[in-house]
Amino acid sequence: MGEIVFQNTLGGRKEPFVPLHPGEARIYTCGPTVYDYAHIGNFRTFVFQDILRRFLKSRGFKVTQVMNFTDVDDRIIANAAAAGVSIREYTDKYISAFLADRKALGLETPEHMVRATDNIEDMVKLIERLTAKGFTYVSDGSIYFRISKFHDYGKLSKIDSGGIQAGARVDVDQYDKADARDFALWKAPKPGEYFWETRVGPGRPGWHIECSAMAMKYLGDTIDIHTGGVDLIFPHHENEIAQSEAATGKPFVRYWLHAEFLLMDSEKMSKSLGNFYTLRDLLAKGNKPSSLRFLLASVPYHRQLNFTQEGLQQAASSVERLRNFVARLRSGKFPAGSSTVSQTAVKALDLFEQSLEDDLNTAQALAAVFDLIREANTAMDRGEFRQGDVAPVEQTLQRFDAIFSVLTDDDAERLRALGMGADTAPSDSEIESLVAQRQAARKARDFAASDRIRQELAERGILLEDTRDGGIRWKRK
Ligand code: AMP
Ligand code: ZN
Repeated sequence: MGEIVFQNTLGGRKEPFVPLHPGEARIYTCGPTVYDYAHIGNFRTFVFQDILRRFLKSRGFKVTQVMNFTDVDDRIIANAAAAGVSIREYTDKYISAFLADRKALGLETPEHMVRATDNIEDMVKLIERLTAKGFTYVSDGSIYFRISKFHDYGKLSKIDSGGIQAGARVDVDQYDKADARDFALWKAPKPGEYFWETRVGPGRPGWHIECSAMAMKYLGDTIDIHTGGVDLIFPHHENEIAQSEAATGKPFVRYWLHAEFLLMDSEKMSKSLGNFYTLRDLLAKGNKPSSLRFLLASVPYHRQLNFTQEGLQQAASSVERLRNFVARLRSGKFPAGSSTVSQTAVKALDLFEQSLEDDLNTAQALAAVFDLIREANTAMDRGEFRQGDVAPVEQTLQRFDAIFSVLTDDDAERLRALGMGADTAPSDSEIESLVAQRQAARKARDFAASDRIRQELAERGILLEDTRDGGIRWKRK
């Protein structure tokens, strides 16, 4: 198999992937800010990261991936206070929802999933190191990074920080390129706000220091791959580089990979614009998790993806075509021997691998698989497909599914796991009929059957109560 190349934002070109430790890939992924449900724009980036890790694993790399949860920021503090709950309680809900959504989309679990608030001590230590080297100063109780002292500032986002007035500060975590200024590492608490009492004073960490501290804690000073959406290049990743490299004097990240946006009506899908769908919104409209996964994976991460209902429908029919073909292949009886389809399958696999080697060109990889399916279907229609073709075609499909993971028809199960889907919410008439069956079973003293029906209803959210007159009342949980 050939060389893997990635489009490295640092340097701005495709580069062969050579990890620091041969055979290992250490990846850091900026995770969600857990103040609400993630939207499918966020999942575009998370699906890309899943394709990346699956591909590297399929090539024998030992992958260690760290993903953080940003579980403290202005919005979280405000929302938790408004809801009258602790930050932990508030964010727990959205972390659980995010993990459930990931499962539904077939995203593998990173080796480490870490909460910012569980790693405050590591952030404090990093701030102390930066202070010892003269990279920080205090203003109004907050600690700032002095970007004029870090000469490489701007190397990722290519901003020129030369003209920026030393000492000009910015307090919010997200801001425009034009606003490149000294940023807060540690924020003094506003009156009434929750804070941590630490060696660097009372307060809470800035967003950027979280990722530097956790990346280096779990993966070492220099990591192989750092990923996120393009909106994170500046200021977040630029600031991560500044903090990490100023502290260690070593390169922080070898390959920066950034996913382009998922768009809706030509605009970035985002919470602030209000033009977003959560995964659950789309599933509630009857879409399948596999259609979403396929759609988000099918456009190479370096290209913007315009979200449309038609696109989602096309993805659904592509998955159906794949599954139908697999069923046909596995159930068919073919004459002995082999045909040209065997060679096509081998070539398709080569093309599939080459496409992914080329900066994860998923669109081209899929085209190779669909060309194979078309040819194999035609051969089957004509009675030319042979038993000996099954194995090479299966092999190509299995390599495909190790990355795309849509062949198993388990959408109903995935929906059930999210508490959604037709079977979880039975209609009144279905409930009445099950209740009647249970009554009949009891009358016939078939208690096993009666218990089974009660259990099934309980699993689907229906509680039964026996009434005094021997009847049954039911209610939804
Ligand atoms: P956040 O929770 O806002 O920190 O975002 C989580 C991840 O989703 C980050 O990697 C963002 O870059 C990414 N992201 C946010 N909006 C979009 C979008 N519309 N398309 C693709 N990725 C996005
Ligand atoms: Zn980050």
